[in-house]
Amino acid sequence: MFLSITDLDVKYKSQEKNVQAVDHVSFYLQENESIGIAGESGCGKSTLGLAIMKTLQDNASVTGKIIFEDKSILYISDSDFTKNFRWKQISMVFQGAMNSLDPVFTIKKQFEEILKKHEFKGDYQQVIESSISAVGLPHSALDKYPHELSGGMKQRVVIALALILKPKMVIADEPTTALDVLVQAQIMVLLKNLKKSGLSIMLISHDLGIISEIAEKIGIMYAGQIVEFGNLSDIYKDPKHPYTIALLNAIPKLNNSERIIPLKGSPPSLINPPSGCRFYDRCPKAMEKCKQTPPQVKTESGFVMCWLHE
Ligand code: SF4
Repeated sequence: MFLSITDLDVKYKSQEKNVQAVDHVSFYLQENESIGIAGESGCGKSTLGLAIMKTLQDNASVTGKIIFEDKSILYISDSDFTKNFRWKQISMVFQGAMNSLDPVFTIKKQFEEILKKHEFKGDYQQVIESSISAVGLPHSALDKYPHELSGGMKQRVVIALALILKPKMVIADEPTTALDVLVQAQIMVLLKNLKKSGLSIMLISHDLGIISEIAEKIGIMYAGQIVEFGNLSDIYKDPKHPYTIALLNAIPKLNNSERIIPLKGSPPSLINPPSGCRFYDRCPKAMEKCKQTPPQVKTESGFVMCWLHE
C-alpha cells in the first residue's frame, strides 16, 4: 500500500475546550493513485493534510496510524521526518501559499533557501532551473520578486517549490482557490501533467469538479469524519451518503437542465459534536436510529457511514 490511514484523530487543545478536528479518519491509496478530499470549510480537510506532513501546531494531539510506504509516520521522530521525509517523500502546497512568498527576496533565493534547509548536496542552479521549467515558467522568472509575477505564476512557483526535491506525493490544499477560471484551468493542466509523470496527488478542495479532473479516489469529509470513500467514478455515478448526494446536487450543470439544490443549515460544532450521525440535523432521510453513531458500511470500492446502507 502506498498510503494507508487508519483511525486518525486530531484534537486541538485550548484552555477550556478540545476541538476534534479529525475524527477516526481511515482511507488508503495505491501506488500512482491520487485522491480528492472534499467537504465544506472547517470540516477538517486541511488539518488532515497537516497531520500527514507532521506540521500541526503544538496544541494538536494526533493518534491513529499513517503508513506511508510501510513506514509509520507518527512514530518517526520530528528530526528524522524533517531530514528524510518532509519535502523529499511527501510535500505540500499550503492553502494560500502563493501569498507567503517572501516579498524581499527573488524567486531564485527562495528556492535556494529550501535547498539549504533540506541540506541538498547537488547542483543548485541545475535543480532550480529544471523545477521552474517543469511548471512551465521561463528561467527569467527566477530573477523576479514575487510582486512582479501574476497570481498564476506565483502559484506555479509554490508548486515548483513543493516539487524541488522530487517527492513521491504532494498534498495540494485548495491550489486553485483565489485564481480566475482561466488560470485555474492552467494549474489543473499542470497538476494533471505532473500526475502523468508519476506523482501522487492528494487534492484538498471544496470543488468536486476540480477533484474529478485529477483523482481516482475520493473521500467526502463532514464535520471531521470521512463519511464516504471509494473510487471517484463509483461515487459520482452512485453517491450513497446523503451529504455526498447534496454536494453533487449543488454543482451547476452546463446545460442548465436541473435546478441547483442548495444544502441548508451548517455543520455541527466540533467542540462538542453530536454522538450520533453528524449530518442528522441537515439530512432529509434522517431516522430515529441516526441518533446513534452510524456504521461504516463496505461498498464496492470503499465505505459509507450511514444507517441507510447498513
Ligand atoms: Fe442521514 Fe441517518 Fe444516514 Fe446520517 S445516518 S446521513 S442522518 S440517513
